[in-house]
Amino acid sequence: TYVVTDNCIACKYTDCVEVCPVDCFYEGENMLVIHPDECIDCGVCEPECPADAIRPDTEPEMENWVEFNRKYSEMW
Ligand code: SF4
Repeated sequence: TYVVTDNCIACKYTDCVEVCPVDCFYEGENMLVIHPDECIDCGVCEPECPADAIRPDTEPEMENWVEFNRKYSEMW
């Protein structure tokens, strides 16, 4: 899965939301998040992010970000 990280805070772009084929972006408190179970791992959103906030969870120490994304995508 891909996750949104803190570079997204206060970012006003929604290019990622528009390209996601499964609409798995949600609004968190002050940033977007990706529902980790809905993301199909296509990677299309990553290069669209002007803030470089979208990272694959295969990078080191992403566990907390996965949980953060899950929490806020299931909150509403
Ligand atoms: Fe959506 Fe693909 Fe990005 Fe996952 S990797 S959030 S499915 S665009």
